[in-house]
Amino acid sequence: MKAVIFNIKRFAVHDGPGVRTTIFFKGCPLNCKWCHNPESKNIDIEKTDKYYKIRDIETIKTKQIGKFYQVKELVNEVKKDIVIMEESAGGVTFSGGEPLMQFDFLKEILIQMKETGLHTAVDTSGYVSEKKINEIIPYTDLFLYDLKHYNNEKHIENTGVSLLPILKNLKYILNLKKNVWIRIPIIPEINNSEEDIYGFIKTLDKLPEKPEQINLLPYHNIADNKFKRLKIENKMKNIPGLDKKTIIPFKLMLEQAGFKVKIGG
Ligand code: SF4
Repeated sequence: MKAVIFNIKRFAVHDGPGVRTTIFFKGCPLNCKWCHNPESKNIDIEKTDKYYKIRDIETIKTKQIGKFYQVKELVNEVKKDIVIMEESAGGVTFSGGEPLMQFDFLKEILIQMKETGLHTAVDTSGYVSEKKINEIIPYTDLFLYDLKHYNNEKHIENTGVSLLPILKNLKYILNLKKNVWIRIPIIPEINNSEEDIYGFIKTLDKLPEKPEQINLLPYHNIADNKFKRLKIENKMKNIPGLDKKTIIPFKLMLEQAGFKVKIGG
């Protein structure tokens, strides 16, 4: 069994507890305007050209995005850092893109990682069937669960998909008392007004259980070169990134509403 992976990040400290290896799956059913991983959207292996000059001579370097991996290869890759993972109470995180798009592979690798005793996290948009969520629940210790907007129309406008199945799956996971960290990207002109934060609080208050924590992820404008190389329009090209300080008031509002909140992953 194989999957298309576009990045493997060792010693990651923002994708769950402790020191982790994060594996990025290619393919995503969403099309968020602010996506900083546009190379993850297409599930196929892609090639892009990078143009640069050496002594005034224009040179093109072709870069492949994505590579096939077998389950065993990735398990061995993760095991390289097993000592530091155990010492730091870390583990492995499956991210993307949307890792559940390559479902059979994800389920198999989760099963094999659990056999090693390592902590497992799945970073998901939640835009998947309840059946798939249900099947990985026994092998997933933590869900890093994106909540990009609280308003369904705005969610559709800015991500291309409905919020409704995402909220339904989130409630399902929380009802099963699973550990969930909700990740809210704070995006200028899309969800960063005071009214928006109250909207999020109203939605979060209706969840059956409190998530273990909420991560507020300030928008950063670092993906423009990737968009150019992939020949995809960057809809947020002229929007500057957000300073962490500007979202401290949102953190305080959520804390006052009773949530544990962290800025960053
Ligand atoms: S869910 Fe993540 S990877 Fe997919 S389009 Fe949105 S930001 Fe990009």
